[in-house]
Amino acid sequence: MSAEGTALAPGPPKLELRGVSKRFESAGREVLALEDVRLRVAEGEFVCLVGPSGCGKSTLLNLVAGLEFPDRGEVLVDGAPVAGPGPERTVLFQDAALFPWLSAIGNVRFGLRLRAEVPKAEREERARALLERVGLGEFLHASVHELSGGMRQRVALARALTAEPTILLMDEPFAALDALTREQFYGDLQRLWQRSRRTIVLVTHNVREAVCLGDRVVLLSARPGRVCEEFGVDLPRPRDFNQVEIAEVAGRILRTLKSHLAREDGGPEPAAP
Ligand code: ADP
Ligand code: MG
Repeated sequence: MSAEGTALAPGPPKLELRGVSKRFESAGREVLALEDVRLRVAEGEFVCLVGPSGCGKSTLLNLVAGLEFPDRGEVLVDGAPVAGPGPERTVLFQDAALFPWLSAIGNVRFGLRLRAEVPKAEREERARALLERVGLGEFLHASVHELSGGMRQRVALARALTAEPTILLMDEPFAALDALTREQFYGDLQRLWQRSRRTIVLVTHNVREAVCLGDRVVLLSARPGRVCEEFGVDLPRPRDFNQVEIAEVAGRILRTLKSHLAREDGGPEPAAP
């Protein structure tokens, strides 16, 4: 396991987790979800967090989003502790929570309504531009139930972008999509990121997806989640999910993950209560 220097990116951090631990009480038992997590993410960096199910990936994103608070340690954005949710940090979840009675553009316009500084007369045009950016220019007026899962997720992305977040947090955003839709989305998201250079933290349990998208892949160990290793991905963009280089890097990461899991399994078991 790497020591102190784990997960350090060059440059001043946009986002930093300093020794973050988080516990939950569930049915009278304590669950340590995250332990001593240290992570720095540079401005404009695209970081993917991978780890087994239940290792605390969503908890980590929720801490950054300000929906949860750490028991120990600090979560800092631009050097200031996160005190709650804020428009500069938007979360995109696995299931696009759209308003089903509104059209695609209606959903995006709704996001813009929350921004007082955007004049009403500009909402339509801005919403249209955002939907075009996510490849839905021809489906502006489609109702939510007419859209496929992938299209709904694109609308949700466009709506998330209305807040002009400086940090976009994505929690397994492709998990519910079919393989083909997902691969198209990988290309679009990379292009979007290359144009806007927002800081993105994307959580996934799919290692190849992480390699396809991230500048850096941060590996979390099984519960409690800790940063156990990180890998820089230095491949030109846009990357294709089916590229052989991606499979190679992903293979290396998977082997590391498996050896961490095997070590954890082989470690001393806590005594039964
Ligand atoms: P992941 O997203 O990696 O699958 P989570 O962050 O959802 O993992 O959960 C990490 C651990 O914390 C799990 O054991 C989960 O059951 C527990 N946990 C998460 N949120 C809560 C909560 N609100 N109450 C109780 N336990 C929780
Ligand atoms: Mg999760």
